[in-house]
Amino acid sequence: MKQTMNKPTVVCTKCAWVSFAVTKAHAEAEVKTFNKYYATLSKRDQESYRGEATIDSYTCQLCGGSTFRLAKPEEIPFGSTINPVIWEDPDMNQNTPKTIQRQEDPDADQG
Ligand SMILES: [Zn+2]
Repeated sequence: MKQTMNKPTVVCTKCAWVSFAVTKAHAEAEVKTFNKYYATLSKRDQESYRGEATIDSYTCQLCGGSTFRLAKPEEIPFGSTINPVIWEDPDMNQNTPKTIQRQEDPDADQG
């Protein structure tokens, strides 16, 4: 599985809350990994979490919205904790020149 360290930072189109974007596949994999771990915990340890993970939590933490756009550099807060949301760059499948240059295998397969 290929992973890039730089996840795109996105802004909620409803409330302008900043989050970072992961793909649905990535979110599902994380949820699966967490729930596997969660299942191994004792009841007491499980209480320190909010329960099993679900990809439904990968939405705007402020308003619950699920529509985002790429954040501008000046919109990105430094040093604050931002949460992951499911968002896939709609331009990623088009050959539109963007400010973020991506060098990816043209035949990279997303499984
Ligand atoms: Zn929002």
